[in-house]
Amino acid sequence: MSRKKIVAGNWKMNLDRAKAKELTAAVAARRGEAAAVELVLCPPALYVETVGAAIAGAKGTVGLGAQNMHDKASGAFTGEVAPPMLVDLGCQYVILGHSERRTLFGETDAAVNVKTKAALAAGLVPIVCVGETLEEREAGRTAAVVTGQVQGSLAGLSPAELEKIVVAYEPVWAIGTGKVATPEQAQEVHALIRGLLAKLSSPEIAARVRIQYGGSVKPDNAADLARQPDIDGALVGGASLKADDFLGIAKAFG
Ligand code: PEP
Repeated sequence: MSRKKIVAGNWKMNLDRAKAKELTAAVAARRGEAAAVELVLCPPALYVETVGAAIAGAKGTVGLGAQNMHDKASGAFTGEVAPPMLVDLGCQYVILGHSERRTLFGETDAAVNVKTKAALAAGLVPIVCVGETLEEREAGRTAAVVTGQVQGSLAGLSPAELEKIVVAYEPVWAIGTGKVATPEQAQEVHALIRGLLAKLSSPEIAARVRIQYGGSVKPDNAADLARQPDIDGALVGGASLKADDFLGIAKAFG
């Protein structure tokens, strides 16, 4: 089964507007270097429109995503961003359940589940993040934790909906730490996730879902990860802030 690889940059709460434009223009101009790979930029919500405009001539070949959203389409939710607003600004993707959202802002699997359904209803592709902490890995609980997160975050999705999503396996201990999971450690969890997706839908549908790895991916470790059969791309934090590094990672998946 050949799945189109997908490499997404999670800029988190970094850059200013001028730098966001500059980085986007650099990625858009050099997009052809990783032509076989789907590229997605996920700037801070406030810069989504700016980045969308800066994609310019590469529109349609460089995707646009947000890092979070509310699950309601409108209403009295001060400070929040609604799914249709993201669509209005040209977003096609939204990262949901990132470990920083889970640990710093208390997002539960149930909350991620509601958001995932809302994203799909709005026409956005959710990039649903799961991953264990170091403590959980050391206690031998990785499979149990990831299973719970996948089942909880994706509960009630129809097979057709499951087919549309992207899952990102991001071990929390590897995010922003410089400690990357070994390709074997990552592959083991990716295979587990694909098996869970098969149980939630069918093996045929699970074989079509892209599962990204995230956690200190850099140009020099991406190729080994890319060789694993169930790793279909990367969700990149720190290294997505430099065009050279982001494209270097994308090329490794090409
Ligand atoms: C992330 O935040 O999704 C991430 C993977 O970060 P980093 O690449 O910096 O570890």
